[in-house]
Amino acid sequence: ISEPFLKASPILSTLVSNGHEGYFVGGCVRDLLLQKEIHDIDIATSATPNEVMKLFNKVIPVGIEHGTVIVRHEGESYEVTTYRQDGEYTDHRRPNDVRFVTNLAEDLRRRDFTINALAMDRKGRITDLFHGQEDLEKKLIRTVGNPEERFQEDALRILRAVRFSSQLGCTIQKDTLEAMYAIRSQIQHLAIERITVELTKLFQGQHVAKAIQYIIDLRLDEQLPIFQAGYSNIFKDMKDKIIPLQSFAEVIAIFHLLEPTIKIHDWTRNYKCSNNIKNDALKLINAYHFYQSNGLNNWLLYILPKKLWAGWMRTVFVIDNTTIQHELLQEISASLPIQQRSQLDLDGNDLMDWFPHRAKGKWIKNILEEVEYLVVTMQLVNEKKLIKEWVLCNRQEPN
Ligand code: ATP
Ligand code: MG
Repeated sequence: ISEPFLKASPILSTLVSNGHEGYFVGGCVRDLLLQKEIHDIDIATSATPNEVMKLFNKVIPVGIEHGTVIVRHEGESYEVTTYRQDGEYTDHRRPNDVRFVTNLAEDLRRRDFTINALAMDRKGRITDLFHGQEDLEKKLIRTVGNPEERFQEDALRILRAVRFSSQLGCTIQKDTLEAMYAIRSQIQHLAIERITVELTKLFQGQHVAKAIQYIIDLRLDEQLPIFQAGYSNIFKDMKDKIIPLQSFAEVIAIFHLLEPTIKIHDWTRNYKCSNNIKNDALKLINAYHFYQSNGLNNWLLYILPKKLWAGWMRTVFVIDNTTIQHELLQEISASLPIQQRSQLDLDGNDLMDWFPHRAKGKWIKNILEEVEYLVVTMQLVNEKKLIKEWVLCNRQEPN
């Protein structure tokens, strides 16, 4: 077994030596068998949440009602979830109630796909009740049980199937695919936050082009905010150009650049994005427009924070099929005379001193911005004396 599992195995040992069952389950077992990097290790147990809380010193009761307790162990967090069965999903969002059950089989049966319904004990022995390993080998996504029922219970699974095809390069099994098409209109009733999470992961996957083909073929876009109103060309337009992206800000930037009639604000509001995502999307788009009219220059690097470079390069690649050299960005950025406004050898007080008869007003902001642009683009040297000369010479008239 690999290192993250060895690190977590004392948790299983504690559960077992206290008379409970404990297994690694879900994505971590799947990713281990695929020899992919493991992000988080989830544990399923026959112990109740209260029993789990008593057995471990450092616990965080994150979702007791769903049976989940986080156990902290050697600096890592593990979700330890009591075997459960999900109740009805009458609102298509969340199960109305969860029932704790005593055996692993019941817990595995509620899981979405056969490849996600695998469990492994601390000795590395796999429990595979639904031929998940066989499907993994064939790279097939197939629901556990009747696909129509499973998608009817929770329509998010439709998007999850597409998301796993993007992450794992899997094909969706025929009956599962047909049920996704039949049940697709239920996607409209899902909480949008859950959709945005799946779309983000979908666009991060190595096989995102394959996933977008599924969205087009199954007409899933027609069930999603904004696309509903008939913008199905956006997915078709990006199909042949898309590459794996990092954040939803890049996704929005690309959607907007492919369909400029829809405002960024509409994307971020409809998909309930955080302000961070919104601000990053705005910066990516501004930088893209500036680049289109001016090419790579100092001002572009000045307005584009370093943490967005990679995302911006991906955006330019998808939209223009142009590869920007990272070294070039590095070089230009290193040559900038200033990195931010506060380094400008000029502030509002200087301007008030130089124009004592002018009332405070928007002219101050305007001159600051103008001088900032000139300094960054090396048309003016960042020295107060020279700046003053320029301002007095060129900006005698208030503007
Ligand atoms: P990732 O690598 O993205 O974390 P994952 O398979 O771990 O992939 P999660 O969303 O973390 O996916 O869910 C953990 C496990 O819980 C899944 O592997 C699956 O067994 C189960 N699961 C999650 N969401 C659902 C759902 N909507 N319906 C049924 N089972 C689900
Ligand atoms: Mg997970």
